[in-house]
Amino acid sequence: MSDPILTVADLRVSYGRVEAVRGVSFEAARGSLVTLVGANGAGKSSVINAVSGMLRPAGGRITFEGADITRTPAHKLVARGLVQVPEGRQILATLTIDENLRMGAWHAGGTAQSTIDAMYDRFPVLAERRALPAGSLSGGEQQMLAIARALVARPTVMLMDEPSMGLAPKIVDEVFRVIEEIRASGTTVVLVEQNARRALRAADHGYVLQSGAVVRSGPAAELLADERIVEAYLGVD
Ligand code: ATP
Repeated sequence: MSDPILTVADLRVSYGRVEAVRGVSFEAARGSLVTLVGANGAGKSSVINAVSGMLRPAGGRITFEGADITRTPAHKLVARGLVQVPEGRQILATLTIDENLRMGAWHAGGTAQSTIDAMYDRFPVLAERRALPAGSLSGGEQQMLAIARALVARPTVMLMDEPSMGLAPKIVDEVFRVIEEIRASGTTVVLVEQNARRALRAADHGYVLQSGAVVRSGPAAELLADERIVEAYLGVD
């Protein structure tokens, strides 16, 4: 690959004696949208949590912007532009929407008010309710808040774990529209999804995970076009 911004080589993640990730390698070209797809339990979340510094890998090497970040903790990576939108959104339900966005800015070492204002322009539903507790938002709105909170850190690489999980189809469309916009603005996106077809339609490159290993990879359109892959690994949706 000509200019990978993120490279993961032979990554291993274990929980006690459970080997959840057994030598996963992938890379993301600068400005691209890469997706890791696979069934429940394939190891997708473990991979992305290791990349974002939320959990410590048992082995392998992760390189971001040419630097080894294999053991760099999450808060340092956020300040360097590698930011994760966690699975299950994990917004702070009792804090207001505005406070949630400020927390995102604070984690990134402070962000200008104009960056937060830009989020309100982009997500009018958040602007209207900025003084309300985040827990009062619907599931889709909470996902938008989680994305906006990551964006105030001005990421160069955004990692997203199952952003469509538990959302109604119309809201899933909206979430994917936002993901594609983020990518169009130049941010590299690494997207973990069980909704494989949907993710591959949006992605440039895809990796199919099964039992903690990459079983197929390639241009997303090629993976989607291969009936055998779709049948064997991607299931119905
Ligand atoms: P999901 O969509 O369910 O999140 P996934 O593909 O993201 O699936 P992981 O969550 O990474 O998969 O899980 C991979 C394997 O590791 C599974 O067998 C899971 O049971 C196991 N696992 C995950 N987290 C833990 C943990 N904290 N302790 C023990 N085992 C775990």
